[in-house]
Parts: sequence; structure tokens; C-alpha cells
Amino acid sequence: MKKTLAFIVMTALIMVLAACGGNGGTQSNGGSTDGGDSGKGMVGISMPTKSSERWVGDGANMKSEFEALGYGVDLQYAEDVIENQVSQIENMITKGVKVLVVASIDGESLTDVLQKAADEDIKVIAYDRLIKNTEHVSYYATFDNFKVGVLQASYLEEKLGLKDGKGPFNIELFAGSPDDNNAYFFFDGAMSVLQPYIDNGKLVVKSGQTSMEQVATLRWDGATAQSRMDNLLSANYTSDTVHAVLSPYDGISIGIISSLKGVGYGSGDKPMPVISGQDAELASIKSIIAGEQTSTVFKDTRELAKVAVSMAEAVIEGKEATVNDTETYDNGVKVVPSFLLEPVSVDKENYKAVLIDSGYYSEDELK
Ligand code: BGC
Repeated sequence: MKKTLAFIVMTALIMVLAACGGNGGTQSNGGSTDGGDSGKGMVGISMPTKSSERWVGDGANMKSEFEALGYGVDLQYAEDVIENQVSQIENMITKGVKVLVVASIDGESLTDVLQKAADEDIKVIAYDRLIKNTEHVSYYATFDNFKVGVLQASYLEEKLGLKDGKGPFNIELFAGSPDDNNAYFFFDGAMSVLQPYIDNGKLVVKSGQTSMEQVATLRWDGATAQSRMDNLLSANYTSDTVHAVLSPYDGISIGIISSLKGVGYGSGDKPMPVISGQDAELASIKSIIAGEQTSTVFKDTRELAKVAVSMAEAVIEGKEATVNDTETYDNGVKVVPSFLLEPVSVDKENYKAVLIDSGYYSEDELK
């Protein structure tokens, strides 16, 4: 009798423990997590890649925000393979998620899968990157992407003293992935500052490569940027010096810096050129502290996650979300109502105030 009772108590205990474990999230493909639903249903979060820190932070921030509101979360990373992203979204649709939050790899390749979502009445929030060629995107949460480019180039302008008439300086230009709508906004923003100096000869692009087609970096890949920089240096700078490099993203900046170091920049009488970046990734903040990369643009992904989650909750509840831009982001079918957050330029002077004081990084992480 006693034995039977003990068995029943044990079994009940195991069942309770198993049920609790369900909310902790289980590993699924790509090391992504599939958190249990605690009442309000599931949401699907589709992120491009774990190879860049920012998306890891973005996913984690949204997951905890959604879970705090009582939603279960299916969070997937597609490792920059378009087909992975499409099939991950298809799975989320099959699971019956209430809403999809998507940071696309290729903004033009989700038209069909988002039609499937619409057929199931699942609404979509575009996260950071615009999703193009579909009417089935309710809102867009992002930063002022043109301003990101303006900040990157204004930093180069300031450091070189171009406004004071200094120059001429040699500069090379890099842009982001041509299948990411943001890449055009960053590049256009940067060129709005740099083009007048190129026109008046104070900035010289010795390679002659100044169009988006020539300077784009597929998938924002640092290794691709590194080998393009190798080629630029050997073709144009064996007897000349490069003074500045426009880089759209920290991972690309790191590749460019490796290439520059390979031919002696950053040592002896060959100083590192002025180099921009974006995302305030740890490796780049360390590089800035070490005097290699010069600046980056910080985009507070904690705030972006909050905006996206509140948009998602609004569409689930059939309410209107708060937006602050209804003109800029035409996806080819409609202008997607957007909320744009403010990017901030970061360098050696202000990284502590912007990144440490705000709790984005701890002092220890930067050691
Ligand atoms: C994002 C940037 C990021 C880049 C590469 C862009 O769409 O807006 O923050 O640096 O993708 O991941």
C-alpha cells in the first residue's frame, strides 16, 4: 500500500516537472528555440543568421519580450540560406503561429510563403529589413536607415577634416548585400555626404568603383569584403596610401582591417585608414578601443525588439500599431507603415557612455 502511494506521488512529481520543463524551450534545428505556449498561443520569429551577434541579440530580446506577455515562441535562424528561411516560415505556418516576425535574408524571396501565411490569416511584421513584393506585410520595425549611412560618412568627413577644406584623400567604398533593401539606404545616405567631395576632388576613389553594383558585398560577408580589399590594395595602392574606407557593417570592417594589416597598415609609418562600421558588435568595439576600426553605428536592438513585439501584439489583437513613418518604405506593392528608431554614432570617445552606461555591454565583455 505504502509502495503504491509512493509510486503515485513520484509519478505525479515527474509529470509536474516535465510540464514545467516545457516552457523552458527545447533545441530544434540550427540551435534555435521553440518555447512553449503559456496561454496566448505561439508566435514565429524568423531570423537570418547567427553568424552576426546582432541577430542573436535581436532574437533573444524578442523571445523574452513575447514570453513575458504570455506567448510561446518559435525562434529560428536560417544561417543565411534563403531556402532554410522559407521552410522555417512554412513550418511556423503549419504550427499555427498567431503572427510572424521576419528579418529576411533576401527581401524579395518571401512572396510565395507570405501568401501561404495570408491564406491562414497569419499577419507579418518585417523586422529591421523590408520585405518586398508582397501586400502581406502589416508593419515594418526598423531604424532610420538613410541616417545610418549619413552617420557613417559624416564620421569620415569629420575625421578627415573635409569640412575644413583638407584633402585630397584616397577612399574606397563598400556597401552591404544587394538583396537587402537596407544596403541601398545605407549607401545612399553615405553618398549624400561623400559625393560632393568626390565631385570636387577632395576625395579620390582610385579604383573608380563607386556604383552600388561595384561595391556591394553579398550576404554582408566579411571574407568577401576582405578579398575585395586585397584586390583593391594590390591594384591601386602599391605606391599610394588609402586614407579612408566606407564600411557599412562591423563584420565587413573586420575583413577590411585584416586585409589592410596584411600589407602593413596599422604599424610603423602606415596608420590605419579611417574606417566606419555598423552594429557596435563586440569585436568591433574592441577594435575601436585598440585604435583599428574608427567608428561604428549603434542601433539599440533592445528597443527594436520592443517596437516589433508591440506591433505583433497589436495585429494579434486587431488593433492599430504605433508608427512614425508612412512614406519611406515602398516595398513595390505598398508603402509599409513603419516605426523608425534613431541610430547613434559610436567611437572611442563615447562608447562607454553609449554602450556601457546603457547596460548594452558590461565593462568585462570589452576586455
Ligand atoms: C542591418 C544591419 C546589419 C546588416 C548585416 C542590415 O539589414 O540593418 O544592422 O549590419 O544587415 O547583418
